[in-house]
Formats: sequence, C-alpha cells, structure tokens
Amino acid sequence: EPFSEKLRVPEALTFDDVLLRPKESRVEPDDADMATRVSTNVSVNLPVVSAAMDTVTEAELAIEMARQGGLGVLHRNMSVEETAEHVEQIKRADELIIRDVVTADPDQTVREVDAMMEREGVSGAPVVDDDGVVLGIISGTDIRPYLEVGEYDAVREAMTDEVVTTGEDVTPREALELMYEHKIERVPIVDGDDRLTGLITMAGVLARREHDNAARDDDGALVAGVAVGPFETDRARAADDAGADVVFIDCAHAHNLDVIDSAREIEAEVEADVVVGNVGTREAAEAIVGFADGIKVGIGPGSICTTRVVSGSGMPQITAVAEVADVASGHDVPVIADGGIRYSGDAIKAIAAGADAVMLGSYFAGTDEAPGRVITMNGKRYKQYRGMGSVGAMNDGGGDRYLKDEPEDEEFVPEGVEAAKPYKGPLSSELYQLVGGMQSGMGYVGAETIPEFKQRSEFVRVSSAGQTESHAHDVVITDEAPNYSPES
Ligand code: 5GP
Repeated sequence: EPFSEKLRVPEALTFDDVLLRPKESRVEPDDADMATRVSTNVSVNLPVVSAAMDTVTEAELAIEMARQGGLGVLHRNMSVEETAEHVEQIKRADELIIRDVVTADPDQTVREVDAMMEREGVSGAPVVDDDGVVLGIISGTDIRPYLEVGEYDAVREAMTDEVVTTGEDVTPREALELMYEHKIERVPIVDGDDRLTGLITMAGVLARREHDNAARDDDGALVAGVAVGPFETDRARAADDAGADVVFIDCAHAHNLDVIDSAREIEAEVEADVVVGNVGTREAAEAIVGFADGIKVGIGPGSICTTRVVSGSGMPQITAVAEVADVASGHDVPVIADGGIRYSGDAIKAIAAGADAVMLGSYFAGTDEAPGRVITMNGKRYKQYRGMGSVGAMNDGGGDRYLKDEPEDEEFVPEGVEAAKPYKGPLSSELYQLVGGMQSGMGYVGAETIPEFKQRSEFVRVSSAGQTESHAHDVVITDEAPNYSPES
C-alpha cells in the first residue's frame, strides 16, 4: 500500500472541538442525579474520581472524595505496606463501630482512668474484665470533678454498671435511638457472651449523617481505589486484603500485551474490581473488555503530560472515549475518562462521549487535602503538581507506568513535567463547582440521570471562531470566578 494512503487520516476530536447541543428540558440542574458506576460492582454518588498521582491522592484526599460521593485512587509511589495503611485509613475513617476501643480496668483508680482517657483523647470507656466481658462504662462526667467519688476509689465503684449494650447488627438509626432514649453518648457492642467487640459513639453517628451523599461499601465504609503497577501483583494483593474496592492497573499504554496478560492474572487473583488503563482506541478496548471490570481512557491528554510531543502518539480525548465506550457499552463495562479536564464543561462532555465517570488530577492538585505544602511565589499561593512520568516522580519510583526500566545512571526519558497549581482551599468547594457545572450541562440537555444523559446528549462541532466565542472575550476580567480562569 502506498505510504501516501496513510495521509487519508481520520479526524479525532477533543474537548474544545465540541459542545453539547441544548435540548428541550424540564430538568433543574439541582435535580440531576449524579450516581454512576466506576466499575461493574462499585457505585458512587458523583461521577468523579481523583487521579492516582503523588501530588493528588493519598488517604486524606481519598477520604474527602468518598465522603463527598466520589472515589479517590491512591497513587503508588509508596511502599506496599504504606498502600495497605492508606487503604485501612480510608476504610476506618467513617467507621460506625470503633474497633480499637479504649477500655478501663475495674481495679484501676479513678485518677488513673481519668489520666488514661485524657491521654487517649476519649471522654468515656467501657469497663471490661480479663475476658473482655463488659461490666460497666465510665465517663468523664461520672468522675469529674471528683464530687461523689474519690480520686483513689476503684473504677468499679465509680462506673455506671447498668450499661446499655447492643449487638453487631445495629443500624445507625437504632444506635441513635438507643442513645437518645437512655441519654447516653456511647453504646458498647457485645457478642452473645457479653464480650466487647466494638463501640458506637454519638459523635460517630452524627459525623456519618453529615456525609449523607458519601460513597460507601456494603458495610458502610468509604470506598477506596488503589493504583498498582502493571506487574505489581503484591501491591494488588495487599490493597485487596486491606479492603480496597477497586484496583486500577496503572499504565500509560495498557494495549501492551504483557501488561494485559498481567492485568488478567491480577484480576483473577483479587476480590476487588479491576479497572484496566489507559487505552485510547477501539482495538485496545476489545483486547481488555472481556476480563476488565472497567476501562480507563486517556493517552496523552493530561495537563502535566508530554507523551504526545515526546512520543508522537496519542488520541484526542473525546474521540478516544467514544471509541472505547462503543466497545465497553456492549459488554456493560464502565468507562472512565482520565486526563485533560480543565473545566466542568469538559467533564460533562466526556460523559456525553460515553464515559461513566471522569478522573482529574490538575483540578484537585491545589486543594488542602492534596499531599504537599502550600508554597508562595511572587505573593501568590500554589501547591506542587507533577506528572507521574516526570523526572521527579520517576526518581521516587513511578517509572514503570511508562514501561521504563530504572536505568542505572538514573537518566529517564520523561513523559511529564513538574509544575504548580494555584492553591484552591478545601476539596469540597472544588467538587461543588465541578459537579454543579456538570449538573448544569444535564439541565441544558434535559437529562435527569447519567445513563439518560449519555443517551440523550448530542454534540456540535466548534470552529476556532466558535471556541473564542465560548470563552470570556473582549473584556478585561476584574474578578476571577471560582470555576473559571482563562488559562486554568
Ligand atoms: P489532568 O487532570 O491533570 O489533566 O490529568 C491527570 C492524568 O494525567 C492522570 O490521571 C494520568 O492518567 C495522567 N498522567 C499523570 N502523570 C502523567 C505523566 O507524567 N505523563 C502522562 N503522559 N500522563 C500523566
């Protein structure tokens, strides 16, 4: 075939090339339901996932993502043990039943138990005997300021011995009712032999109520995602054992056949769902759709990413998402659009192109919950944001994402840069803007749910004149909007 045939090239589009065609609607943006799936068995309440990058997602940001209704994916520039610890932190964060309960001994003195509670930062403790049987409960108000009991009295004298306990299967509502009824703030959980197995506190129940849109697993714990290297079976296993809901095979080119073989092995070994990525074509999707629980799309769209200029390859993101979604939707496998999202409008366009959820790095990098400290340059505040294929991140261990062996002389061919993002404050307000904008898009299209929106939405093609018209133009911006800055 003549080489010149290669120049009959198909067109591939990205975010700025398209807009959603407005349609008849009765949908108020606030009423748009954002629930979706990130993988076949994992549902979330917002279609938003934070990137597995060492300047974006560790336990702290992942906890806040899940509390708000999305999913955080832990980066893998850490030891396997640390991965397990971070997953455990997420899983414990909104735990209804506290498991490592601070207990008191009936023969301790009031003074000792008071000091202990102070040290442990608790205001009450179940009193248990050597077999763990609950004898009573003691709280700060029982003993301070030593009015009715002496400092050197035994705890068994000072404690409340008519203690209200309940079983493992108590619901948050039942626990709250018990606490109101008996005017108490904590209820020990016991087994059939009255032995202590956990503790529910009023503060814990109320904290969970505050996050009523949180994304939780079947036990009520926050959902957790973990990135693992293409051949990192040990990290996948550790994440799975720690309770991760989704394992992401994190590779810049998942249409590599060795990566696919390994991903298949990992999928067979872990209980968690396995999302495989990144890919950007129909053929790649066909190669993984048979075993993957989700497919992640993005070859080179990321803000800190230089893959396309370094390697000369990539796929504009809207076309990439649509090609993959064509294949995945036929198998009922969710698709995640990863990278290149600057505005809420980009995020909802990705969903119109066929994604079930979007993954963002840059958007969340400047938030309080992202790792790293705030730095000041020329009087403006920033946080560091770097590509996982940047020299700095690869030196810290991320090279295999780019299928690069660690060279002995420490010289890499990077596919990302190290940068900074303006400091943004709390993640919750960034997410609020992002999701609010996406809901607004659903309002313009007249769709009340994500699946309905995927079906109903249509694109129009935008010229470069149209693109200029889309942005704020011919004015001098005097006050920056919380969801728009021209160079974002
Ligand atoms: P952003 O939201 O900043 O536009 O893109 C984030 C995504 O970029 C990540 O989820 C990841 O898929 C991708 N990414 C992260 N680091 C690098 C890198 O160094 N090089 C490339 N090619 N992509 C990266």
